[in-house]
Amino acid sequence: MSLTPELGEQLDNVARQMAQAERTLVFTGAGVSTESGIPDFRGPQGLWKKVDPKLFTIQNYVADPEVRKLSWRTRVEGELFSAKPNPSHFAIARLEKLGVAPVVVTQNIDGLHQAAGSTDVIEVHGTVREIVCLDCGDRGPVEDTVARVEAGEEDPSCLCCGGILKVATISFGQQLEPEVIDRAFAEAERADVCLAAGSSLSVTPAAWVPARLAERGQALFIINEEPTELDDVAAALIPAKTGVALPALAERLADLLR
Ligand code: NAD
Ligand code: ZN
Repeated sequence: MSLTPELGEQLDNVARQMAQAERTLVFTGAGVSTESGIPDFRGPQGLWKKVDPKLFTIQNYVADPEVRKLSWRTRVEGELFSAKPNPSHFAIARLEKLGVAPVVVTQNIDGLHQAAGSTDVIEVHGTVREIVCLDCGDRGPVEDTVARVEAGEEDPSCLCCGGILKVATISFGQQLEPEVIDRAFAEAERADVCLAAGSSLSVTPAAWVPARLAERGQALFIINEEPTELDDVAAALIPAKTGVALPALAERLADLLR
């Protein structure tokens, strides 16, 4: 897809401001991964149009083996483990290499920013790349547990203590990791531009990170095909696919900083 002249002009402006800034904070949501084949929650093809989010609380996961079985089966059969980074992730990694945006705060749990080369990713909602035992706290790479599910264990238990295993994501009803969300807020105090891409900006406290930059009077740029909760306080809205807008933006910055 090529850029319209309007979009090109908007991206020129955003790139100029980012080139002059000290430190851009990139904030991402499920929308940067839809072009990798992972559905978002609230977009037009979102997962919440098909399943009931109320089922997937931590309380149900702990209480009900059937929820755990369904959860593992959905994970193993789904697209999350096999997905590959797309041009949005690579463009964000390029912003780091250009020295523009050293840190990414993401709500995504898919690990695709790291797969594309970003080295400092604050995953406020955790990751599916690891498992954690809800009883003894043991953690490890997810692959071994996925292999157990594929071999027929419907609800694999911890090999250390027999406890309940779960992917290391934050479920509904579960507390965020304080040191992770605290670091995200610390980054919101350091940056002088925020680039929020592919997020409805409706899930709190994560969305308070871009909101905080706007509150401090810093420029918030939003790339989203649809309206978001923070459109009113944004310095610019870029209504485009992130897989189109982000590479075009990174290209402009590379030119400006050459
Ligand atoms: P969301 O589903 O609330 O919003 C996604 C937004 O991205 C929507 O506003 C949609 O219009 C937009 N969008 C979708 N595809 C786009 C594209 N190609 N270009 C531009 N915009 C696009 O997601 P959120 O804001 O991240 O918050 C919800 C929660 O979703 C988070 O807690 C996150 O943990 C979870 N989640 C993560 C993944 C993942 O890791 N890939 C997938 C689904 C949900
Ligand atoms: Zn254990």
